Amino acid sequence: MSTLYCVCMILDILFPKRCINCERFEDFLCCECKSSLKVIGFQRCPNCKKKSFCGKFCVEKFSMNGRLCAETFYFDQLILCFLYDKDTVLRKLIVNFKYKFLRSINEFFINILENQFSKFFYSDCLLETYDESIIVVPVPMSKEKLRLRGDNHAKILAQNFAKKLNLKFCDALWRTHREDQAKLKRTDRLINLQNSIFVKKEYESFLFGKTVILIDDIVTTCSTVNECSKALKNSNVRLVCVLALARG
Ligand SMILES: [Zn+2]
Ligand SMILES: [Zn+2]
Repeated sequence: MSTLYCVCMILDILFPKRCINCERFEDFLCCECKSSLKVIGFQRCPNCKKKSFCGKFCVEKFSMNGRLCAETFYFDQLILCFLYDKDTVLRKLIVNFKYKFLRSINEFFINILENQFSKFFYSDCLLETYDESIIVVPVPMSKEKLRLRGDNHAKILAQNFAKKLNLKFCDALWRTHREDQAKLKRTDRLINLQNSIFVKKEYESFLFGKTVILIDDIVTTCSTVNECSKALKNSNVRLVCVLALARG
């Protein structure tokens, strides 16, 4: 028996795993609470939220303002994992992942991200499967926020996702500190974000012609992932697929 195995066993006895939702002694999430999580079986257009092929934008006109759904967006596809509701188990899972970083939650998320990605990822380039031209990039966090939080959880997810799928990880973006998006109204969010996310100088030429899987935990209006995608497309990234846990 290895030392590590023994240490893990002792830790399990000293600190038995409890469900983060109902506190039952079982696992980080008991079977019952786990079954309340709803994994998304089909994706929607990121703009009008109509059911769509693989989370791509509708091709027909969007009737509300006569614009095409894809018109103001720079990414090509949005793949989500879970249905999100503020009171659900998922929210507790994400909060625990962000502030306590439980390894088992990380593994659970990575498995779901992998499943959804292999089910829904769509590339118009048939030769491009899991190869050199696909890179995994996290939504960046400003230095100031990083100092407060200690970790960028989107980066942790992206690193582990890339490792699991044997893809290249690249922390290609950086952002300036702006007011917290969550506190702002939709229109103010867009203004607040303008010219706040950039490609790091050292990756500008590396990104040419690449396909980027952009990882975030929760997307809301998509304004942050859109600003990231704008910076990536300006560095000649061919395709951006946003992969997130849920849409809040
Ligand atoms: Zn439970
Ligand atoms: Zn649409």
